[in-house]
Amino acid sequence: MTDTPTGGDVRLAGISKTYGSFTAVHPLDLTVPEGSFFALLGASGCGKTTTLRMIAGLEEPTTGAVLLGDRDVTDLPPHKRPVNTVFQSYALFPHLDVHENVAFGLRRRGVKSVKRQVDEMLDLVQLGDKARHRPHQLSGGQQQRVAVARALINHPRVLLLDEPLGALDLKLRRQMQLELKRIQTEVGITFVHVTHDQEEAMTMADTVAVMNAGRVEQLGPPAALYDNPRTTFVANFLGTSNLVEGRVTSAGAEVAVTAGGAALTLPADRCAAPARAGGALLVGVRPEKIALTHADDAATVPAGRNRLTGRIADTSFIGVSTQYTVDGPAGTGLQVYEQNIERDPRLVPGAEVVLHWNPAHTFGLDAAQDAE
Ligand code: ATP
Repeated sequence: MTDTPTGGDVRLAGISKTYGSFTAVHPLDLTVPEGSFFALLGASGCGKTTTLRMIAGLEEPTTGAVLLGDRDVTDLPPHKRPVNTVFQSYALFPHLDVHENVAFGLRRRGVKSVKRQVDEMLDLVQLGDKARHRPHQLSGGQQQRVAVARALINHPRVLLLDEPLGALDLKLRRQMQLELKRIQTEVGITFVHVTHDQEEAMTMADTVAVMNAGRVEQLGPPAALYDNPRTTFVANFLGTSNLVEGRVTSAGAEVAVTAGGAALTLPADRCAAPARAGGALLVGVRPEKIALTHADDAATVPAGRNRLTGRIADTSFIGVSTQYTVDGPAGTGLQVYEQNIERDPRLVPGAEVVLHWNPAHTFGLDAAQDAE
């Protein structure tokens, strides 16, 4: 840990990593704002851990620079950077109790009286009553919190978390997501969190960078990525997209498309690339944005909504909602999630239905990019 505090944003300026002829991370420019909770999200092998390790100094970039505030730290070894990492494996010392595990970094730096700082950290992670326990006497979630306290006691400017919840069962994972979010808000330092779990990234982070094959495909607040994905990868990685192939009939502030035999519209700024008349466009909408109306009541669907017709193939009741699979136009299996407020008993397999939604919830993706 450096003695010179360096605040400010984390900036990656053209960093890349190649192993022989394989490019794990293509030249990447991104800024992690100071004090934010930032998630690198992607499937296994997409380069997120390599990116994190380059920030930590555990991996040397092939090109580019890592900056913390105005300071270029690219050539600094890990322990000289104001950065700490929490790994999935926790890496706690089994022979030391919780207090001594947390005190470790301070003792190594020759700090004599550590008790007050350790107690503060244990309170922060709500383990004040476990100070004299050994790691094997703790649950997985508690061990993870010790690892976080141990990393935070050094007052890093940036905390890097590499799949820190990967070893926990689902329920504990959900609890720890909220817990880590609380801790981050309380200490106010920058967290960069690596995960392959889109729900986790969306729950915790202010900003999510979705990575695919060594590149960031899209970056933004979780709701913006979910509501307005710009690539088919992002659309499908974050949820169900209901993509239907269409052709643009007119392009202005509002784009008109023929898709699945229907005339649909969407705002131009919800198209990933500028739409042009005659061009192909993949049109998508999230399942919970769609309403289902039995075909007999089609006349009750308000004007101005986008609509497609189909036949219910399957339904599954899951308490808060019912999920419908609808055989839509051109063989599409469209997914619709309806909250069980007033369920129409006629919406059963075989029923003819109208699917309709607000055009503003439609997104348009580049059909050519999908074919690459
Ligand atoms: P995971 O979630 O599985 O950890 P990841 O997205 O974090 O995946 P990375 O660990 O960053 O992926 O790896 C990106 C790619 O680089 C992978 O294809 C991996 O096999 C490759 N890679 C990583 N380290 C090395 C290395 N030392 N030598 C060669 N290839 C490597």
